[in-house]
Amino acid sequence: MVEELNPFRISQMELDKAAKIMGLDETAHALLREPKRTVVVNVPVRMRDGSVKTFIGFRVLYNDARGPGKGGIRFHPEESLDTVKALSAWMTWKTSLANIPFGGAKGGVICNPKELNEAELESLSRNYIRAICREIGPDVDVPAPDVYTTPQIMAWMMDEYSNLVGKQEFGMITGKPTEVWGSEGRFDSTAMGGMYVLREAAKLKKLNLKNAKIAIQGFGNAGRFAFEIAEKLSGSKVVAVSDSSGGIYSKGGIDYEKLVKAKTAGGNVQAYKEADKITNEELLELDVDVIIPAALENQITEKNADKIKAKIVLELANGPVTPGADRILFEKGILDMPDFLVNSGGVIVSYFEWTQNRQGYYWKENEVYSRLDEIVTRSFNDVMNTQKEYLEKKVKISPRTAAYIVAVGRVAKAMKIRGWY
Ligand code: NAD
Repeated sequence: MVEELNPFRISQMELDKAAKIMGLDETAHALLREPKRTVVVNVPVRMRDGSVKTFIGFRVLYNDARGPGKGGIRFHPEESLDTVKALSAWMTWKTSLANIPFGGAKGGVICNPKELNEAELESLSRNYIRAICREIGPDVDVPAPDVYTTPQIMAWMMDEYSNLVGKQEFGMITGKPTEVWGSEGRFDSTAMGGMYVLREAAKLKKLNLKNAKIAIQGFGNAGRFAFEIAEKLSGSKVVAVSDSSGGIYSKGGIDYEKLVKAKTAGGNVQAYKEADKITNEELLELDVDVIIPAALENQITEKNADKIKAKIVLELANGPVTPGADRILFEKGILDMPDFLVNSGGVIVSYFEWTQNRQGYYWKENEVYSRLDEIVTRSFNDVMNTQKEYLEKKVKISPRTAAYIVAVGRVAKAMKIRGWY
């Protein structure tokens, strides 16, 4: 049988699995299998040659029983409604697992930002906000940056929205530059949250991170900060790293500063000469303690899960491990930390940004990190305690399923208490 790789189908399958184990009410299950609201808009943009080009945009509010929607906006040539729906579902579970007062949402525009000049990109950003302005707002649905959208784009969107509603509405979007009241600590928050999870997971596995060897797939926002922070925070050694052009491996460790220089000069990580070249597939199968998939979805599947040797898989990317692979890793005794726990740092600091915008009082970086640590560690414990509770009932579940049970349970309870079913 061919493994299902449609992201929305995967998100439904994961929900179905958790729903069955936790005995979720049928009506709640049906409500949670589909988004509450899906909006498709066309966004006209005047191009540099005077013509008007129409782009297709989406905004999906998956569930808002626990608070306003929260989720990024992606500008990508291969954006699709199914991807946005899946990501909005995952945002629902992510905010619920973190126990922050938001629901889940996601947005996107089908476009290639690399082909747009700055004026076109600004116009696309502003016109997209005009098209969806009735669907968003600080108490309704709060967007943020995601693939190929930047703090500058968030600033344009905030400005456009403020003009439309006739007041300064900084809290309508997060991930803004600090000059227009973004939060301290936002830029590396995803990797930082992931490292707090790794610290807790290592304790559980009795793995001393000081001597640990780490391989990281991806060297973008998530992977690059993970590399830097892993070494700084825990003293672990990153021995392998990759990007879209392939990977590198050095038993003795890779020097972060030298790698950044080599990648800047040569365009990819393989420009770093003091390491062996490897493929992205080989990187995942290395004999290391921790692998951090920080690039794309569907990287560990039923085809290669059996070849994974690491003790811990830290899913910093969204959806890097398929449901079939999750089962295999669990059976092999590998501690696979699910994406919506590991990469929740971004949305947690987004929550802090929204909170600061609403109170008009701003926190220092160390306050942001210590509050982030508290929330991520609490979520980790919620997951592992749930897994333990089920084990005591003789039901073996993976950390991912346990995380689903916690997150889905909270959303279902909120819907019930509100009288939705
Ligand atoms: P990015 O675009 O900055 O970086 C992606 C990296 O992956 C690049 O280094 C790219 O070269 C590499 N890559 C692309 N194809 C690859 C392949 N086939 N094999 C290996 N590497 C490949 O993106 P990002 O922001 O770092 O996001 C990466 C993942 O983390 C995504 O799944 C994203 O949804 C998730 N994530 C990121 C954040 C964040 O704050 N940046 C938050 C939550 C989740």
